[in-house]
Amino acid sequence: MSLNKYDIVVIGSGPGGFTAAVRAAQFGAKVVVIEKSFIGGTCLNYGCIPTKFLWQSLKTKQKIQKSYEYGFKATLEPVIFADIIAKKDRNIANIRKGMEMILSSYSIDIINGFASFKDKNTLTVLDSGITTEVSTDKIIIASGTKPSVVKNFIFDGDKIINSTDALNLKEIPKNMLIIGGGAIGIEMATIFSGFGCHITLAECENYLLPNDDSEISEEIRRNLLRQGVDILTACTNALGDADKYEKVLIVTGRAPNNDLNFEKARIKTTQKGFIETNEFCQTSVNNIYAVGDIAGKNLLAYTAQNEGAITAENIVKGNSIKIDNFVVPQAVFSMPQSASVKVSNFSQCKDIIFGKFPFTASSRAFIENERTGFVKCAVDKISKKPLAFWIVGAHSDELINTASQILKSNMEHISRETMFHPSLSESLLNAYEDAFGKCTELPKSC
Ligand SMILES: Cc1cc2nc3c(=O)[nH]c(=O)nc-3n(C[C@H](O)[C@H](O)[C@H](O)COP(=O)(O)OP(=O)(O)OC[C@H]3O[C@@H](n4cnc5c(N)ncnc54)[C@H](O)[C@@H]3O)c2cc1C
Repeated sequence: MSLNKYDIVVIGSGPGGFTAAVRAAQFGAKVVVIEKSFIGGTCLNYGCIPTKFLWQSLKTKQKIQKSYEYGFKATLEPVIFADIIAKKDRNIANIRKGMEMILSSYSIDIINGFASFKDKNTLTVLDSGITTEVSTDKIIIASGTKPSVVKNFIFDGDKIINSTDALNLKEIPKNMLIIGGGAIGIEMATIFSGFGCHITLAECENYLLPNDDSEISEEIRRNLLRQGVDILTACTNALGDADKYEKVLIVTGRAPNNDLNFEKARIKTTQKGFIETNEFCQTSVNNIYAVGDIAGKNLLAYTAQNEGAITAENIVKGNSIKIDNFVVPQAVFSMPQSASVKVSNFSQCKDIIFGKFPFTASSRAFIENERTGFVKCAVDKISKKPLAFWIVGAHSDELINTASQILKSNMEHISRETMFHPSLSESLLNAYEDAFGKCTELPKSC
């Protein structure tokens, strides 16, 4: 079968492909999405949503166990992990239905199957032995990434597992070695240790989250130790001890889904196999764009969404919008969460002063019984503009969006009249004021 009725063909229905497809349809384009697996991509099915659901489930358990703090006498029945996984799957299915409904509302077709290039305008799609050819003017590649493998260790889905396998375990293992102390490793360590698994977390660099602020990394380390996680840093041979563990979870990075015959369309890739794109998300071939993880920038769902939306507009209106990475917030669902954001030229900034506000001094943190952590703020001493925020503490994943807006709007100061009281957001202001020794919520410093 051969189809050529589409203005734009999108490969992949993760955050990048989904957003690109919907935005292009909003501009009046006739769009088709080709998806080899489930609608929603890594984010919905094996990434952001399942991890955060399991984290929230753990948080709920802890809230029940601590409900006496609010005057309740609640007891918890033994946890059946398979029930939690089933709830997670039901939530994912419901969100997926919502996404399918949105695609259908914009008359976006979905073709199930594996897409690969025949030439720069033609894709073949293979599904259950049947091949369909799809020809079009414009193609958006949003094929994402998959767990990367470590030399000599093959994921067997049983003992040596990846993040997708871990998110589908029906029982909590007695113990687990997690290789990789980045965001995913920390989230997995938090979730599984919280449900009773003895975790050893191994990172080859000297710190967990090696690319983040060392104070944040240290606070996360302390909190994980408090939860009973064993942490091995500067550890390069942890896999040598694999036999000692019931499960070994390898989360050392992501590899591009690049088995789509890119060479047949002459699409250039980097040494690591990601697609090279310019500031408009255009590949080396004029009519082909690439967004999200496969373009290898931040490997984050909202980067994928942003690139998807911008690409759709660039295709429909001609290249007009450049990708702006001035501020890109990050969050890790440790317990409590941690998050950070800084201006993109932070490493070149001079004359920086720092302020810090601990949640032990926040009345809202008392109300929430969430007093662990702090907000740290970097400020340009001359212009008084905030340059970065780092947060460890409850709801830091939400607070960081406010911090991003503050940085993005290039404010010269943060004003108290915009902050509701009692709120955790006030802590951003308090950390900022502390940089000048002017925080009224902290004692005078010596
Ligand atoms: C455990 C984990 C937790 C994460 N948590 C977060 C988080 O909290 N926040 C966050 O921002 N990011 C998180 N991420 C990262 C986030 O999931 C990705 O950055 C995001 O999904 C990338 O979106 P994408 O559209 O580029 O690709 P994907 O979401 O990977 O989607 C790609 C889609 O393309 C399809 N596809 C691939 N090849 C083909 C082909 N040849 N033919 C047809 N279809 C194809 C795939 O089946 C897939 O559905 C997490 C990732 C993991 C693994």
